[in-house]
Amino acid sequence: MTVRTVTILGATGSVGSSTLDLVERHPDAYAVLALTAHRDVAKLAAAAIRTRARLAVIGDPECGAALAAALAGTGIETGAGPDAVRDAAALGADWTMAAIVGCAGLPPVMAAIEAGGTVALANKEALVSAGDLMIRATTRTGARLLPVDSEHNAIFQCLAGTRIERVRRILLTASGGPFRAATTERMRSVTPAEAVRHPNWSMGAKISIDSATMMNKGLELIEAHHLFPVGADKIEIVVHPQSVIHSMVEYVDGSTLAQLGTPDMRTPIAHALAWPDRMAGPSAPLDWATLGRLDFEAPDEARFPALRLARDAVMAGGARPAILNAANEVAVAAFLAGRIGFLDIAAIVGKALDRYDPPAPCSIGDVLAVDGESRHVAMALMKDIAA
Ligand code: NAD
Ligand code: MG
Repeated sequence: MTVRTVTILGATGSVGSSTLDLVERHPDAYAVLALTAHRDVAKLAAAAIRTRARLAVIGDPECGAALAAALAGTGIETGAGPDAVRDAAALGADWTMAAIVGCAGLPPVMAAIEAGGTVALANKEALVSAGDLMIRATTRTGARLLPVDSEHNAIFQCLAGTRIERVRRILLTASGGPFRAATTERMRSVTPAEAVRHPNWSMGAKISIDSATMMNKGLELIEAHHLFPVGADKIEIVVHPQSVIHSMVEYVDGSTLAQLGTPDMRTPIAHALAWPDRMAGPSAPLDWATLGRLDFEAPDEARFPALRLARDAVMAGGARPAILNAANEVAVAAFLAGRIGFLDIAAIVGKALDRYDPPAPCSIGDVLAVDGESRHVAMALMKDIAA
């Protein structure tokens, strides 16, 4: 068996930990090249030691000394700072998991794409912000982008190599989050603790809030638009509270293919890790007898305005998706810190899009500049709210 080298960007997070779990179950098949994290030195060092990684990198430069101390005498190289994270991604692993949260993951994802290997993409914010440039780079370098987000992995599986022109519609399923049936009035007073409690999935804090506002589905619409070029008007969102069907593809001949499974990210991650083969995975199988029923309903853009903001952004293109994403990152962080209310999140994103309208970015540097300026605009809007 040939051993594939693996790098995990964001190895201490929810997706990163699930990826480590799979890699560690198959030590003969995978050799860990590099692991990165933002601040969790203890968790990163422990994972590096367990997997005998060649390199461990911490994103926050202030944590560099602690990481070096934790790994002293192990023979594992260490690095610190955003440039070191990017350099780790550029080492050219056969397979890289992009599981950093936010647009902060964009430079390392681009480095992995430039290195030309297989890039398993969970970090949707990078693709939302720089989709056109990222897809163009994969074509140029021959890198292979495999979707890990459960919906996009489902669509990828349902496409099964069929020509994209034969697709009539893509149906992106959404759980609806914890406030699927809540009134706007109720949502006005929800706390961060209530909002992070997703009914079906266990995930990092940021994506859990995005699921509650349904901005997650908006970001996923933009993500799908870049990964599967059928035209954004052919990608529809359907609410499916049980999260059993992870998405569907409807073909011109009338067939609809769906991918199903229990809500465990180790299924789509295993698919991307073994692709084009399959590997044994630990996810629980579906229990059809107790499943009972699958429900579907249309999304409500009046209660979840993030959906309309994201659809407008993908239709307009240019810098709009990067502004949407950056303003959302800032607003979600402020909500989690207790500084703004739940409904303020989409309101701030909408106002940031009204206030800032730069030309379309032509380079990753341009995208990062739009991202930075959008954050300033969103921060200023937040001061108005707090005042
Ligand atoms: P998480 O918060 O649990 O983990 C994020 C990881 O990124 C951590 O390892 C953290 O150390 C690292 N990180 C954070 N900020 C960083 C920075 N500035 N520089 C370098 N590293 C940084 O998040 P998660 O839930 O694992 O999600 C990761 C990505 O995957 C997100 O883009 C999310 O939307 C996507 N995703 C997650 C799930 C899920 O089930 N958790 C499902 C689909 C998609
Ligand atoms: Mg998803």
